[in-house]
Amino acid sequence: MTALVIVGHGTRSAAGVDQFTALVDRVRRRATGGVGDVEGGFIELSRPPLTDAVAALADRGHRSLVALPLVLTAAGHGKGDIPAAMAREQARHPGLTYRYGRPLGPHPLLHAALAERIDAALAGDDRAGTWVALIGRGSTDPDANAEVAKVARLLWEGRGYAGVEPGFVSLAEPSVPAVLERLRRLGARRIVVAPYFLFAGVLPDRIVARSAEFAAAHPDLDVRVADLIGDCDALADLVLERHAEALRGDIRMNCDTCAYRVLMPGFADKVGRPQTPHDHPDDPVGGHGHHHHHHGRHHGQDPGLRPGQVAVVGGGPGPDDLITVRGRALLDAADVVVADRLAPRGLLAGLRPGVLVVDAAKVPRGPSMGQDTIHDTLITHARAGRRVVRLKGGDPYVFGRGHEEVQACAAAGVETVLVPGVSSAVAAPALAGVPVTHRGVAHEFTVASGHLPPGHPDSLVDWAALGRARGTLVLLMAVDTVQKIAAVLVEHGRAADTPVLVVQDAGQPGQRSLSCRLDEVGELAAREGVRPPAVFVVGPVVALAPVSGVPAG
Ligand code: SAH
Repeated sequence: MTALVIVGHGTRSAAGVDQFTALVDRVRRRATGGVGDVEGGFIELSRPPLTDAVAALADRGHRSLVALPLVLTAAGHGKGDIPAAMAREQARHPGLTYRYGRPLGPHPLLHAALAERIDAALAGDDRAGTWVALIGRGSTDPDANAEVAKVARLLWEGRGYAGVEPGFVSLAEPSVPAVLERLRRLGARRIVVAPYFLFAGVLPDRIVARSAEFAAAHPDLDVRVADLIGDCDALADLVLERHAEALRGDIRMNCDTCAYRVLMPGFADKVGRPQTPHDHPDDPVGGHGHHHHHHGRHHGQDPGLRPGQVAVVGGGPGPDDLITVRGRALLDAADVVVADRLAPRGLLAGLRPGVLVVDAAKVPRGPSMGQDTIHDTLITHARAGRRVVRLKGGDPYVFGRGHEEVQACAAAGVETVLVPGVSSAVAAPALAGVPVTHRGVAHEFTVASGHLPPGHPDSLVDWAALGRARGTLVLLMAVDTVQKIAAVLVEHGRAADTPVLVVQDAGQPGQRSLSCRLDEVGELAAREGVRPPAVFVVGPVVALAPVSGVPAG
């Protein structure tokens, strides 16, 4: 037996709330077969809140639900806000799982209901002399608006109206007066305005008001407004059909034209963007801030961050704006951020209030304890149901110990999301004007850690081979060891006058770069007081730098 929770957005209209409640009752009465237990709740504005509906089902022993968004089209509420609210419920009820149903429309049951409402408004007048303005809510999501246009067409097909034109009451064009004016110019004498709305609310009231204004300004026209779809058997049966679909796992979301997935002209900023639901002040959990959910879960590739997950995010080489768009979005979604010393610190200042920032640079470090403490921190917060971002410098998998953290989480049963970053190995030279490869100059580059000096028993680097190689060599963590490394490279064949570039604090206000010969780099580093973080670039590409040579003094 799978319980069904019907999720509404909420409305300031008491009539709208009553209609919702009546529909939930009707679904309960009409439910047969697989549906055992039905509750309904709102994510904001109205009572009962979703959290009470889910709590009631959980109290009755349900751990597996179908959540059905009571929306006609897939826009922000269906794609973002309701899943986010459900994620909060999952955080409240450990072990709770749910299948998410798809929006109600477009569906023949709805078209038939609309036609009935229009006929009722016509009260016997003929369809052939009637134009219909089908008015949707309007959205910043082009796919949702396109669906209203599709419904307008489907409503027209075979029903014998003079025509059906779509319009929108908010956020999209044509507006109600604009579509009525369009129909007037097409020669309409009788117009039925059909709201494509389930229940009463502020926006349906506005449709009535705008239509009345237009009618008053055009006394020669016969303008009528049809009823809303409302609480009816057709709607209850459609809810049950969507429930059955969700149980079968047969959720045919229209993802082909989803702006979060494909690039639509003018909506490039939506592609891949995590959902940012608006605040729900009525949610008793409150204070927990925004939660984010990504529509991508419907597409099987979810770069979003769910409660209890850890995102290991590469923050780039240091400047706030060299993190990836995805990394930045996950940071915005985090409840807890565990930041490294080399992570872009400036981003921490922009986090939502209430986000816990754990400074991993300040975690007490014994010989090997630091990393374990970091693992424990990540796992503990994730297990407490928080969204955790582990913010690292550069790329997490380039000498970042990122994979150790991923493995530790996996061993603890904590899911992770990995977001690559711009590594300082490439970015530091670039920010100093040096490409790590260049046609005719270098066809390879090697990145090596100088953490352990040549000859160290634990070293895994074949320094002799790197001495024989001709390509670019980038050294990280080598401030203390560069002298020894340079000597071994020269010993095995690198020319002593190979140019070397040192880039310290790349991308930071104090960035500086120095260049010299390979056999002088140890001395230069000491003399100039080079401090970490710094990278050393060895090879002929260094000569391509805009300014090269040891600075005067
Ligand atoms: N995962 C990081 C590297 C971590 S190891 C990355 O992909 O960039 C730390 C080393 O990275 C430092 O010792 C230094 O060699 C290099 N580094 C990181 N940030 C740097 C910066 N802003 N400027 C110069 N070197 C940097």
